[in-house]
Amino acid sequence: MSHTREPLDIAVVGGGICGLTTAIALEQRGFEPTVYEAASDYRPVGAGILLQANALLVFDRLGVADRVRAAGRPLEDVQLRSPGGRVLSRFDLNGVERSEFGYGAVAIYRADLQRILLDELDTTVETGMACEAVDAAETPTVRFDDGTRVRPDVVVGADGIRSTVRDAIAPDVELRTLDSVAYRAIAEIDLPAGHRALGFEVWGDGTYAGGAPIGDDRFYWFATAAGRQAETATATPERLSALRDRLADYPEPIPTVVDSLEPADVVVTALEDVPPLERWSQGSVVLAGDAAHGMYPFAGQGAAQAIEDALALAHSIAGREEPSAAIDAYVAERKPRAERIRSESHRLGTLGTMRSTVGCRVRNLAFNYCPDAVLRRARRNRIAGTSLPESPVARRGTGD
Ligand SMILES: Cc1cc2nc3c(=O)[nH]c(=O)nc-3n(C[C@H](O)[C@H](O)[C@H](O)COP(=O)(O)OP(=O)(O)OC[C@H]3O[C@@H](n4cnc5c(N)ncnc54)[C@H](O)[C@@H]3O)c2cc1C
Repeated sequence: MSHTREPLDIAVVGGGICGLTTAIALEQRGFEPTVYEAASDYRPVGAGILLQANALLVFDRLGVADRVRAAGRPLEDVQLRSPGGRVLSRFDLNGVERSEFGYGAVAIYRADLQRILLDELDTTVETGMACEAVDAAETPTVRFDDGTRVRPDVVVGADGIRSTVRDAIAPDVELRTLDSVAYRAIAEIDLPAGHRALGFEVWGDGTYAGGAPIGDDRFYWFATAAGRQAETATATPERLSALRDRLADYPEPIPTVVDSLEPADVVVTALEDVPPLERWSQGSVVLAGDAAHGMYPFAGQGAAQAIEDALALAHSIAGREEPSAAIDAYVAERKPRAERIRSESHRLGTLGTMRSTVGCRVRNLAFNYCPDAVLRRARRNRIAGTSLPESPVARRGTGD
């Protein structure tokens, strides 16, 4: 639906996956949002991302799913394994998810996803604009660190898990932590044939590791281990060496991948999530993505939920006269679903970073004996609730 009234002035704070997707969905509905991004430029991050079917269904509505699939690697299967290599469970994405939803999952280099979203956007992102504070008065004010102030009709806080915009809605939120960190890297390796369309996770003692191909000879690897990290940064030689020791007996290609990496290749990030918030909005200031529901990455749904927010918010704004009514409808639709998935991720994160050897054995036995159908149902339920309003550029791909 394209709106006919005087266009609203919409400021999107944060030009990550959520901010860019929101801006694309708004532009497709006739708005001209401004995206303000703190970073001075878009630099490639040494990490990949797994986009589950619900993210691709939204991208399909925005007309970019085919480009995302072409730039990434559609996966045929995802397996959960023990550190000894035993398959505890498998999802068979090709056979199950693609037949039901039209899409399985895609593993993609984050920088490629970012490039696709930036290309799709008509407007230029205002980089080097770090929001310092937002005043959620009737006409909100956004203040940036260079002294600039803007007074848009609507402010979308898409500024990530350590959101500044959130302070105007839910001050003093303390992020929760698992006292663990995530390591991520892209490795250039000759992948064994069985790994060219396979994603996998290994559930070990206090260490969870895995990855997926993002190209013919490129592999996105991740692992978690006990530790703390203030800001995302590259690994120290000591940390990488400890990880190499810890993962030496894990199933291939993990040891080969970790051996091929230099500390500067590896990105280290704290594992944090946002506690349940009483509200996501205040007046015409509204949160989306990690700012609202940043979650541990164990369900692989953080970005997918951010992408769902983006379409739902743009659709709601386009369909209502009053921004406050649009924001209320968006929050009513998205908050229960995103918070349920955030809670599931929290439980999985607690299980995934468990450090007791006995506890980990029991957990893995439970995965092993739990029928695949039960784990598939949990995954299916995360995908199936996606709201998919019609889009001005609807282009239903076949997923092939
Ligand atoms: C280790 C790890 C692995 C993950 N793997 C997956 C996965 O496989 N699949 C999945 O779906 N999700 C995954 N996620 C989650 C996913 O990365 C996030 O949910 C997603 O990036 C959220 O997007 P966002 O745009 O809300 O936030 P972000 O991606 O954090 O983007 C926020 C943007 O706002 C900018 N910004 C920050 N502060 C300000 C400010 N004050 N002013 C202006 N701009 C600002 C930032 O520079 C950034 O560009 C993972 C997360 C982690 C930590």
